[in-house]
This record gives sequence, C-alpha cells and structure tokens, in this order.
Amino acid sequence: MKLLRVILLCMTSVAASAAVSPTTVSRTSFGKLPNGSNVELYTLKSDQLELKLITLGARVTALTAPDRNGKSADIVLGYDNLGDYLHNKEFYFGVVPGRYANRIAHGKFTLGGKPYQITLNDGVNSLHGGVEGFAARNWSAKEIPNGVEFTLVSPDGDQGYPGTLTSHVRYTLVHETVRIEYSATTDKATVINLTNHAYFNLAGEGNPSILGEKLTLDADKYTPVDSTLIPTGQLAPVVGTPFDFTHATTIGDRIDANNEQLKFAGGYDHNWVVRGVPGTLRPAAKVYDPSSGRVLSVETTEPGIQFYAGNFLDGSAKGPAGKPYVKRSALCLETQHFPDSPNHPNFPSTELKPGHTYHSVTTFTLSVEK
Ligand code: BGC
Repeated sequence: MKLLRVILLCMTSVAASAAVSPTTVSRTSFGKLPNGSNVELYTLKSDQLELKLITLGARVTALTAPDRNGKSADIVLGYDNLGDYLHNKEFYFGVVPGRYANRIAHGKFTLGGKPYQITLNDGVNSLHGGVEGFAARNWSAKEIPNGVEFTLVSPDGDQGYPGTLTSHVRYTLVHETVRIEYSATTDKATVINLTNHAYFNLAGEGNPSILGEKLTLDADKYTPVDSTLIPTGQLAPVVGTPFDFTHATTIGDRIDANNEQLKFAGGYDHNWVVRGVPGTLRPAAKVYDPSSGRVLSVETTEPGIQFYAGNFLDGSAKGPAGKPYVKRSALCLETQHFPDSPNHPNFPSTELKPGHTYHSVTTFTLSVEK
C-alpha cells in the first residue's frame, strides 16, 4: 500500500514537471546553401527569453530579453536572412569558432614532435580555426530537452589540424539562463578551443555604443599581446592598468587610454585569466546597461575569457532593423583557453588525445536591475 502511494506520488510529480516544462523548441528552414543543403533555424522560448540558433556555424542569431520595464529587445547582433550571413563572414556573428577559437601564431604548432601548419586568415596568423573554420560549416542538429544539439565531424587534416574531430555543442534555455555545453573526441592527438562569439548590446542590437555599459571581470590577470594580438606568454596583473575590471567599470572610461596594449588592439580585445579553478563553473563576467537595466552574467568552466569591444565593427553590416553595426556597438565575452596556447607550455593545455573527451560549459544569465 505504502509502495503504491510512493509510486503514485512519483508519477504525479513527473507529470507536473512535464506540464510546466519551461521551454518550447521549434524548427523551421532558414534557407538553402549554394550546395543545396538546408540551413535550419531553431527557436527556443522560455518564460523569460527567446533564443534563435541556426545550423550554419552552430550560431546564435537572436536573443530577446526584457528590460527593467518588461519591454523586450534582441540583444545580440545578427541577421534575419541567410544571404547576409554568407556575404559578411568576417565578424563571426554568434558563431562557434573552431577548431581553435582566437589566434595561433603563424598558424604553426608542434604536437608529439610533429610540426603542423594551419591555414592563415588574419595577416600572419590563423584566427578562429583558419580559412574554412567551424563558423563556415553547416552543422547537423537535433532537438534535446529544452534545446538543440549541434554536431560536426571535422576530417583529419581539416585546415591543417590533425585527427578526425567530432564536436557537439548543446544549447539549452531554462528560464533566464542560456547554457552552452561543448564536447569533442578525436582519433589522433590534436588541439581544440571552442567558444561562442555572440556580440551583445544590452540596450538592443543596432544601438550605436556599448561604451556606457559597465563591466566586471572576475580576473586579476590578463595575457598581454604583441602587435599582431598574439600573447607574449606573460600573465600580467591588471591592478593599476586599464585592464582592471575587478569592480564594475564603465567600458568607455579607459578604452582610449594611452596604453600600448590598447593601441595594439584598437581598444579591448584581450584574454583575461578567470579567477578560480578551471573545470569548475564559476563567475567570469557581468555587464550592466544603465539605460535598459539589463544585466548579463557569465559563468564558465574555462580558464580564460576574451573581452572584445567590437573595435573592428565598421558599419558595413546592418541588422534586421536596418541599423548599421558601427565600431564598438557590441561586445563579445568569449570563454576560452588562452589564445595561442599550443605555443605556450605555461598556459593550460589545449591538447586533446584519443580516448579523452574535451568538455566545457558556459552559461549566460539575463536579469534586470532598477
Ligand atoms: C578577436 C578579434 C577579432 C574578432 C573577429 C575576436 O574573437 O579577438 O580580434 O577581430 O574575434 O570577429
């Protein structure tokens, strides 16, 4: 009798949780690529947010969130049609860059004593995986509870990287949190560094500047770069420099300071060393927009985070509302291993060996402050 009651209780609570399932997932076509393959659009809708994702680049195309008055706006840069994504690739709007997010110096590294050369697409360096990186691939997709899982098999030798690499990116949305979980396996030793390259403007896409937004980074050190944005290998303290975001600071306050590092990058475009133990999900960044009240909080298992202030946006791209995406009109917070890690033995390793699984989690949570 008692057992029956327990079983009934369990069944009722399972049914109740199914009934209040917070997120709906729907799928439609976003258009066809020149090779005839179909790009799919997934829409995830919770009681708080709406997230749109497409298979091309496993990317975020829109994220709609309420402001302090409950008024919703799309807070990421993107397009509402496939043609624009195919013609403007250089900004990497919302993509999962890979195999190696950010830069590898001269596209060269050595693994197991063997030299490798990756395709170059950023002057003398390789950026975001090379000429035909993961951003340019049409990933396969399937619905999962509260979200979508994208999968890509990158063949041995792709862009010069060793090993057949199978990657999965799972986006889920529950209430006010977008969770991105990355995993990958290989059949030969290789390197990997995956992230998400969403450009946020918490006042809404198309607003002209993020310089009035306030940023906190949970980081006491950053990795200074040379003039081609390759880390020197140093972990430099942020204290006393324009790189100190340990307390909420208006982004525009020091972005044009007389500082060599800022000059190299044309503003902020650097990797910060996230406090705490890599592999554990912990706070990395927080952005507050005083005009809308929106707050974005980022947590990650990654050792680093690239804060890129959209310095290379030039107004050539226009969003769905027709507004140009001008310099510094959005920012990226790319959780990652440090740039050029394969050439810096003192940085956390980005090597993935056969029989091991690469695993990484980042969450983006939206809220409002009055
Ligand atoms: C890099 C920038 C680069 C941008 C491309 C960022 O991850 O740090 O230097 O221009 O990606 O959109």
